[in-house]
Amino acid sequence: MRIGCHGFVFSGKFDEAGIRTAIEGTQRAGFDFIEMPLMDPFTFDEKVAARVLQETGIEMTSSLGLTADTDLSSDDPAVVERGEQLLRRAIDIVSFVGGTDLCGVIYSALQKYTQPASDTGRQHSAAALARLGDYAAERNVVLSLEIVNRYETNIMNTGREGLEFLKLVEHDNVHLHLDTYHMNIEESGMLEPVLDLGDELRYVHIGESHRGYLGSGSVDFDSLFRALVRTGYDGPVVFESFSSAVVDESLTKSLGIWRNLWDDSDDLAAHANRFIRDGLRAVETIKLH
Ligand code: MN
Repeated sequence: MRIGCHGFVFSGKFDEAGIRTAIEGTQRAGFDFIEMPLMDPFTFDEKVAARVLQETGIEMTSSLGLTADTDLSSDDPAVVERGEQLLRRAIDIVSFVGGTDLCGVIYSALQKYTQPASDTGRQHSAAALARLGDYAAERNVVLSLEIVNRYETNIMNTGREGLEFLKLVEHDNVHLHLDTYHMNIEESGMLEPVLDLGDELRYVHIGESHRGYLGSGSVDFDSLFRALVRTGYDGPVVFESFSSAVVDESLTKSLGIWRNLWDDSDDLAAHANRFIRDGLRAVETIKLH
């Protein structure tokens, strides 16, 4: 498993200075790669990112959440087309820096919906993702759909709903992405979703129940680590945490980051890197018993 860190642990802005701060922080904390948030891919400078990645030896994946204006699950084809344009640009960035993964809420807007998803909206999203699956495959990028809680999408909130939605997408380059923060809200536990998803699990976010220091909340990481090792999961595992100490304005509003859960990015990240590696290492030894 490759262990990574979300860019928002270090910076809320991703101009040249922010890109450097986030990648260098990720390296200092001991991670293998950074998950670079691409909330605005059209202003992101992939040449700067590629240069700093090469200097540090850090690899990069990317994630984003669509907005109402780029919602692939919209009933309006013009909105869907804007979403596809944005995601093609994000795929281009990941491909340019030699990355392999684009994930996150890339199938709907990342927002609270006030009604269920329409059949038309689901079909729009699935059809767009199948086209994007082709586009990404040609550039050696894999797409993973992040399953998030009911306040952040109306398309799917559990692993099983994710598997149902994948049947609509029907593309072998589009997979699923689990996040312990969301699983802790919506799932029956940490074990079942990992077993249910099997080979469709391509990406994992590690977040605490309050999105602060790992081990200081109520997420059952022990079961999650056991499930990942037991199923032979070998994909990316990324530490994700948000605090009002480091924020992006749009994400602050959509995710409700009103509190300061930590104020030292370096300490938080180094702790998370050890927590994840130690947890996985411990359960790997079970096979020796
Ligand atoms: Mn996440």
